[in-house]
Amino acid sequence: MRKPKRVLLLGAGGMGMAPLALYLQGAGIQVEAYDDRFSEPMRSQLIAEGIEVLGEPIPTSNPDCVIRSSAIPEEDPKVLSWSKKGVSVYRRGDFLAKFTSRRKLLAVVGSHGKTTTTGMLVWALDQVGFPCSYLVGGSFQDGSLLPGKFRRNSWVVLEVDESDGTIEGFSPQITLALNCDWDHVDRYESTEKLANAFRALFARTKDTLVIPNGSEADEWTSRDSLSCEFLTFDPINDPAGYQETNSRAVIAAGKAMGVDLSGVDFTLFPGMNRRQSILHQTSKRCVVEDYAHHPTEIRAFLSQRRILLSDHSLQVIFQPHRFSRTQALAKRFAEELSQADDLHLMPTYGAFEDFDPAGSADALLGYLPPRLRDRTRIFSDFSELRAAIGPEPSVKAKDQVLFVGAGNLERWAHAFAAWEKSGGEKHQAFSSYLAPRLSSSTVLLADEPLASKTTMGVGGSSRWYAEPANSEDLRSIVEACNLFGVQRAMIGRGSNLIIPDEGFGGLVIRLKGAFWREISPRTEDSLVVGAGALLNEVCRSACKLGLKGFEFLEGIPGTLGGALRMNAGAMGWETFDLVEWVSFLLPDGSVRQIPGTDLNVGYRYCKEAFEGIALRAKLRAEGRSDHRAIRKAIDKLAKKRRSSQPRKASSGCIFRNPDEASAGLLIDQVGLKGEREGGAVVSGKHANFIINEGDASAEEVIALIKRVRERVRETNGLLLEPEVTLMGKSWNEYLS
Ligand code: FAD
Repeated sequence: MRKPKRVLLLGAGGMGMAPLALYLQGAGIQVEAYDDRFSEPMRSQLIAEGIEVLGEPIPTSNPDCVIRSSAIPEEDPKVLSWSKKGVSVYRRGDFLAKFTSRRKLLAVVGSHGKTTTTGMLVWALDQVGFPCSYLVGGSFQDGSLLPGKFRRNSWVVLEVDESDGTIEGFSPQITLALNCDWDHVDRYESTEKLANAFRALFARTKDTLVIPNGSEADEWTSRDSLSCEFLTFDPINDPAGYQETNSRAVIAAGKAMGVDLSGVDFTLFPGMNRRQSILHQTSKRCVVEDYAHHPTEIRAFLSQRRILLSDHSLQVIFQPHRFSRTQALAKRFAEELSQADDLHLMPTYGAFEDFDPAGSADALLGYLPPRLRDRTRIFSDFSELRAAIGPEPSVKAKDQVLFVGAGNLERWAHAFAAWEKSGGEKHQAFSSYLAPRLSSSTVLLADEPLASKTTMGVGGSSRWYAEPANSEDLRSIVEACNLFGVQRAMIGRGSNLIIPDEGFGGLVIRLKGAFWREISPRTEDSLVVGAGALLNEVCRSACKLGLKGFEFLEGIPGTLGGALRMNAGAMGWETFDLVEWVSFLLPDGSVRQIPGTDLNVGYRYCKEAFEGIALRAKLRAEGRSDHRAIRKAIDKLAKKRRSSQPRKASSGCIFRNPDEASAGLLIDQVGLKGEREGGAVVSGKHANFIINEGDASAEEVIALIKRVRERVRETNGLLLEPEVTLMGKSWNEYLS
């Protein structure tokens, strides 16, 4: 294979692809990495290594080839668009097999313990001054060790995945085979079929096969049929002794490489994240997270925990991983999970499988022994699970709270540990959970004054305030709010928003900064605009590009996010006249791009933006025109606005226009221009504006709104409804 100069990685946020990105970048290839979900600190690590991290599958320049994660199928439009252009698209494993074919390769394979053993081997080689290139399928607990590294003229130590069939492409110098247990049942119908995939790899191994003595792995293959050397190590036969077995495997692999690792103190190995990770420990409770997602792994992990803290009861929270595996191994799962004193289940994490009731957590319940079945519940809500686990046990009892699985229960595990560490103080738990999940450029502040962030300039502080630097951080913030029951609110430019004097007890999010202010031409007549872009900047950019239809945005002092939420409009145009699609972060944490025609939009309202968070939108022009003509139209609208609206601090129109009437005119007719409540005054220029003369409080603004509303109702029988929004409150609380 010719070394590509530029590659695009699709699905690069996962623990298979991110190490590959690091490896290729180190090899001098320009890497662009796309995923709709990156987590911290991985995202920052990739950027720090010079990798271009993309929020959309559109690279800055055409790649020589595309590498996709197995989670993205061949027929995915993101993949097809490249293959149609004639760009080679590889699965991760296929690419790696070709790319490393001329290197000295040590492959670590097996059903269980690959990641820890590969990480341990890489670490141990480093300890004895024999650094290698490597790709490990997990992150190290020591954050200074990256999961992928390229080094010239060195061995490549590689965790080879059997789950997607790409194992077939590898012909390593050395194979370290750990074990063979039926798994990935969607690909391998039986243990025999899986063993065949390993056997074929052994047959392709050039120098040495390292294999546990006397285990089933030793029986996989006949030594006579192989051309390579054999080297064996003695595994510990007790399932709880798997860590010692791993270190023996590492020493044997070192021996095959000609490196003596027998003097390494393996107790110093920092370990891999999500593997036996102790998240919190007191004298009465120990909270541990582990990636075990196969019955054999569960048996090993639970037996080890029993031995380590024999006087602690076991509270196990298990999230089944993949419907196919859960269905095929349900009986064995139930058997191993019955080691728990208390069991709590989470719904099956499908990975990329469709829901299948036969592999659901509900189905698994049916296999449990009656002792557990009758009191095991399935939790979709973190606070309910937390309540079920309960506080630390009383004086005599002790427990271990074990979060077990390979899905997304990691968040619950860490959230639970944060609660425990904080002694149940919600806000402390919230910040200690969230802060390490955010990139360093995201702002997270406590007790932030909000008045200056609005055009009205009134109101108190928010308990928390965040300016996420990118969409992953935004997603982490929203998830944390959901987990800890912290209320959240959005603020754009604050030009249609009143902050109550008592402030806001939750977290306020502002999409500020370059990431959210993108305005980029997409086609001849459209722009993609970030929710944090100011409307007058959008208007100016469109004008420069000769795009018509954006002129009305000029004098609206908000952001696109606020304009989408409000369907802001002026002089007969509305924001949604321009919208082709909007991408939203929805309350369930998913990101969806929704066509404008499918959105529920009305006068100063968009349901999806009300319920979720608008992230960006594609806006289509009415047509093209000479930019001077557009400028002229903008100037005309601006002149009209200047002559009809006050310039002092305000929130724009306070009330919605009732059907076929003007709220401003109605207020003027009842003689309220100039009406005052402290520093808040009904504008003399436009009666639907309340202005802050400098020292108004929110209470005064709200009192004036009530008075105006009451007066119009008494005179005209018309009940004006506020257009301006009130942070964290409903107008009903004040106006009814
Ligand atoms: P904010 O005021 O910050 O927020 C408004 C609402 O949107 C809030 O509920 C907020 O939580 C929500 N929000 C903010 N960002 C997001 C997001 N990303 N996703 C989901 N929800 C979000 N309005 C008009 O329609 N036409 C006018 O001609 C007009 N003229 C104005 C003139 C003046 C002088 C002033 C002060 C205001 C005027 N307004 C007008 C009101 C205001 O500018 C618009 O409603 C604007 O679209 C609000 O944008 P914002 O970024 O300031 O939103």
